[in-house]
Amino acid sequence: RAIARAVEGLTPRTPPSLPPRLRLSGLEPFEKTPEIRFVNVGERTNIAGSARFARLIREGNYEAAVDIARDQVEGGAQIIDVNLDDGLVDGPEAMTRFLRLLGAEPDIMRVPVMVDSSDFAVIEAGLKCLQGKGVVNSISLKDGEATFLERARIIRRYGAAAVVMAFDETGQADTLERRVAILDRAITLLKTEVGFPEEDIIVDPNVLTVATGMSEHDAYAIDFIEATRQIKALHPLITVSGGISNISFSFRGNNAVREAMHAAFLYHGIEAGLDMGIVNAGRLMVYSDVSDDLLERVEDVLLYRRDDATDRLLEVAERFRRKKGETPKEALAWRSFPVAERLSHALVHGIDKHIEADTEEALNELKRPIHVIEGPLMDGMGVVGDLFGAGKMFLPQVVKSARVMKKAVAWLLPYLEAEKAEKLARGEGVKAAGKVLLATVKGDVHDIGKNIVGVVLGCNGFEIIDLGVMVPTERILREARAHKVDIIGLSGLITPSLHEMVHVAKELERQGFDTPLLIGGATTSKAHTALKVEPAFERAPTVYVPDASRAAGVVSQLLSETQRDSYVASVKAEYEDVRVRRAKRAPAKLVPLRVARERAVDCSANAQVTTPLRPGVTALRDFPLAELVDRVDWSPFFSSWELRGSYPDILTHPTMGTEATKLFADAQAMLERIVAEGWLQAHGVVGLFPAHRVGDDVELSRLDDAGQPTRRPLATLHFLRQQRDKARARSLADFVLPASAETQDWLGAFVVSTGHGVVERVQAYEAAHDDYHAILLKALADRLAEAFAERLHEKVRTELWGYSPDEALDNDGLIAMKYRGIRPAPGYPACPDHTEKATLWRLLDAEAHTGVSLTESYAMWPAASVSGWYFAHPEARYFGLGPIGDDQVVDYARRKGMSLESARRWLAENLG
Ligand code: SAH
Repeated sequence: RAIARAVEGLTPRTPPSLPPRLRLSGLEPFEKTPEIRFVNVGERTNIAGSARFARLIREGNYEAAVDIARDQVEGGAQIIDVNLDDGLVDGPEAMTRFLRLLGAEPDIMRVPVMVDSSDFAVIEAGLKCLQGKGVVNSISLKDGEATFLERARIIRRYGAAAVVMAFDETGQADTLERRVAILDRAITLLKTEVGFPEEDIIVDPNVLTVATGMSEHDAYAIDFIEATRQIKALHPLITVSGGISNISFSFRGNNAVREAMHAAFLYHGIEAGLDMGIVNAGRLMVYSDVSDDLLERVEDVLLYRRDDATDRLLEVAERFRRKKGETPKEALAWRSFPVAERLSHALVHGIDKHIEADTEEALNELKRPIHVIEGPLMDGMGVVGDLFGAGKMFLPQVVKSARVMKKAVAWLLPYLEAEKAEKLARGEGVKAAGKVLLATVKGDVHDIGKNIVGVVLGCNGFEIIDLGVMVPTERILREARAHKVDIIGLSGLITPSLHEMVHVAKELERQGFDTPLLIGGATTSKAHTALKVEPAFERAPTVYVPDASRAAGVVSQLLSETQRDSYVASVKAEYEDVRVRRAKRAPAKLVPLRVARERAVDCSANAQVTTPLRPGVTALRDFPLAELVDRVDWSPFFSSWELRGSYPDILTHPTMGTEATKLFADAQAMLERIVAEGWLQAHGVVGLFPAHRVGDDVELSRLDDAGQPTRRPLATLHFLRQQRDKARARSLADFVLPASAETQDWLGAFVVSTGHGVVERVQAYEAAHDDYHAILLKALADRLAEAFAERLHEKVRTELWGYSPDEALDNDGLIAMKYRGIRPAPGYPACPDHTEKATLWRLLDAEAHTGVSLTESYAMWPAASVSGWYFAHPEARYFGLGPIGDDQVVDYARRKGMSLESARRWLAENLG
């Protein structure tokens, strides 16, 4: 009564009147709007539609059968047909079991199901399992009017739509007239006797096989098409459907011809009003992609244009047969989606082929470019972001999606600019989600990680201002101010960059910035951020970002009004905790340098010195890239894309395998072009020098005209020694014999680069908004540089120095470093001082020979370069220097003739 009083005098709500259309649903609604020209019904979960599915069902392997359903939906099926009719399985039970399994898969069940059986008991069992509004496939007048109507009423009770086949009491309709007459009769009966809404009726005028060799079958396709036209004219709200693959049954085994027939049949059918088809959604070809000569003969058959059409198609059919392993053309079912869904599909699948046309269409529909961006494009990127966040998409896919997004935005740019100009003229600003400035710090050249972060953030709607590499502090601050950025992200790979980042932080503090700072890159760490960077910049939060997949989360939290404070507080607390724990930790126990030297490892007994076959400097200009390809170590390649695992196992990894395989295929394809078209130039230089140890230094000389080492050293290399209190205190110098030894020892040096040619191509890719290929090329160039280092080291051992002339290792053996000798790199753990590269460059005249230069932080430019020393001693191995004492720094500065302050700076990471 209270309710009655409350609503007294109010007019009841008038339900909105929706235009009559076929509306179905899975977990999501499906409405056949006029924009959807054609609805794809997946045929593969049909015993008759897929041999594999049939086998899995017979074997009772329903789980694998569920995956086929998923493939269908991913391949673009908007409805899935489920048919388990088979003499060997119990129909109702099988249908129930399968649909219940599907019911637990929201990514499949978002689409409606078409319950397909010739046994009505199976259909009813299926209807009981469906949530939402499905479709029954099928009923017909085959068993008489009474049965037909009774079944229709049952279907209505379940609220489903129904497919009506063109059958009557006398059998299947195989002429144009009978197709139309039977369907017209069935439709009229359903409407008048059952009250079946016309828009819920789907008719199938019978797709029958053509080109069978029997002339009675010649008009089957054209009759179907014509029947479609006539029925649509009689009943405009009716949906016309067909089982498309039947048409080409006579070409079983020749998928190329079958797909061409399907494409042409659909093209003409859709033109006549065909709305729906049961198809292999992942395998639809577009009409315009069928080659002309095949198309002509296919259409002769389908449109019954000549009596010898079948023979003429048979004549050429073999020629088009696809060879084993050859992949069919791109799956195109999704091309019939409405434009917003097409944009989303293109983004999620990283397909840029149709993006401009689709963007144009979306602009025509939505009128304003910003609506296209903030509507379908951002929605699509939202899906990508969610899938990535949920671990269902991986970095390479995200980068490909970003490429599609960028191309769409680039296409819209002129319209956006026009709009912006108008807005600004009216005094209105343009809203941005948040601006992030990214830079690789001064002295550093590495930017793969930074670029990936930029792409990931761009995908999440942030505006990126990327200043590139080697960016001086002043420029970072200036641009941050000019662009009013919300966040500054710093990246760097080599250890001197750590120092540079602290410098940027100090300047931000000094100049009164309150912009949050992100720190990332290979040598950065939470500890370094907490201990060194954060304390230098107290005005705003500083956050360490361990990898690109975290970047979006961090940035959104930092910019979120509601989450920011608690997030910042938790990060601050975490870093404070790092500092407290670090302060509590007992300092590493070090021994004085003098004691450490007494604990040096004496390797002189087993030096096995070999005099090089080619002493002195050898330059290798334009080293053949082809020789490097099978020397590539692929595992680090995958890890640069945040696919962590070892090659080749990663290709079959349960979750990452598919994407790793695609990435690998893209890499192979690009590598082939790099080699065939000479995209990159590989230059290297090696030097082998007489050497002897003097304390922790190694003096190098060269051979004079008489073949004797010169008295005056050519250069002196300075090594460092472990000082941790252990039985042995290692230094690389120990792997070289002292001057007092009877044998003349040797040491080598090298620089290799495959970086020449990278920048130009990367710029071209970036200009085409193709970050994916830009990053791929950089990652491959890095891999080739490492492969070159490996190949050259091998050449040195077997030919140039020749101390292991008979070595025979395969690539795995090389990657596992099963050979004699090492090639430690200045700046790396055994010899962490980057400034020693200056000596290396001078010794080899490396810049002249390889074109590789050194930045102020001793990073090599171009980035795809590797350098190091060669030690041939059988016991030589890599180690980490670890913490050293100030006494060694003083000694080292003196030996190097370097100021103490400078030595402390370059060795900061080892000074605790
Ligand atoms: N196959 C790998 C090889 C690179 S990493 C790839 O393709 O990426 C191995 C190289 O890093 C060594 O050859 C050496 O140059 C350097 N390195 C590794 N550990 C080192 C250490 N402790 N001190 C100095 N250099 C080291």
